[in-house]
Amino acid sequence: VKESGKGDFHFYDQRFYDALRVRINQELELRQSIEQDQFVIHYQPRLDLATGVTSSMEALVRWDHPTQGLISPLEFIPLAEESTLILGIGELVIDKVCAQLAQWGTTGQSLVPVSINVSPRQFNEVNVPKLLSSALARHRIAASLVEIELTESLMMAESPDVSSALTAIRRMGIKLLVDDFGTGYSSLSQLQRLDFDVLKVDRAFTSEIERTERGKVFFKAIITMAHALGMRVVAEGVENEKQLDILRTLHCDEIQGFYISAPLPPGDTQPVLTQGSLP
Ligand code: C2E
Ligand code: CA
Ligand code: CA
Ligand code: CA
Repeated sequence: VKESGKGDFHFYDQRFYDALRVRINQELELRQSIEQDQFVIHYQPRLDLATGVTSSMEALVRWDHPTQGLISPLEFIPLAEESTLILGIGELVIDKVCAQLAQWGTTGQSLVPVSINVSPRQFNEVNVPKLLSSALARHRIAASLVEIELTESLMMAESPDVSSALTAIRRMGIKLLVDDFGTGYSSLSQLQRLDFDVLKVDRAFTSEIERTERGKVFFKAIITMAHALGMRVVAEGVENEKQLDILRTLHCDEIQGFYISAPLPPGDTQPVLTQGSLP
């Protein structure tokens, strides 16, 4: 916005300026947070329903703000995705997860794979397979210890570059997970085109299974389809025993949610891995 003369201000709403200023400040702060590495990763276990064993953990980033404390990704990832800031954050997350896996390896904590959320924008703008292979090599981590979660976006829809990147990642031995399945961002067209290993069903569908028969039927249909395509199914956002019981009867493969465990700081994951986490 150009300030060419006092008069120009009359054309705009003061609130617009305030919002814009807040926005610009946030972006500046976020830029600094990347330079100063103010991010921490929490880990949320995903359980195999048949065995009760933790099969993987999801890496969820938090901004450890110097004055505001831990800030949720919902408050800065969308902003970061509107600029190239998401590329810096995405690279930091991959590096931090690999460093954490290496550290767990030396301290003797049981190792399970960690799934990393990768923004569609990263796939469009950087070489994600290369980013992953160099982080794995730098920290001497096996590719099988990392998984990638991704949602579909319009940008990815028909890009041959994106699908060849996904194929390359899979060839490295890294599993691909469809995130938030059933929402607007992850649709059937994605499944039809590409090979994924795991389908993570959005928690909106998990909460529906205990409420309505339709919800149950719908979830069952997703599981049947996924199994027919050779994918495992994860129910996201499992919050109570009733949901867990229904998911068992539906032959859902894995569950994740507050009923099992909240996302934990890296120092707190050992008990979950050794004692099992099925309530
Ligand atoms: P998501 O990938 O769908 O991650 C699951 C979110 O659901 C997490 O929120 C998790 O804390 C929350 N959750 C887990 N279990 C339950 C439950 O039982 N009930 C409810 N109501 N919520 C549950 P979080 O950590 O705030 O992350 C929010 C979103 O931010 C993530 O959604 C993901 O889209 C994004 N995000 C997080 N970390 C990263 C990252 O490293 N990179 C990118 N690109 N996005 C990230
Ligand atoms: Ca996710
Ligand atoms: Ca999700
Ligand atoms: Ca989500």
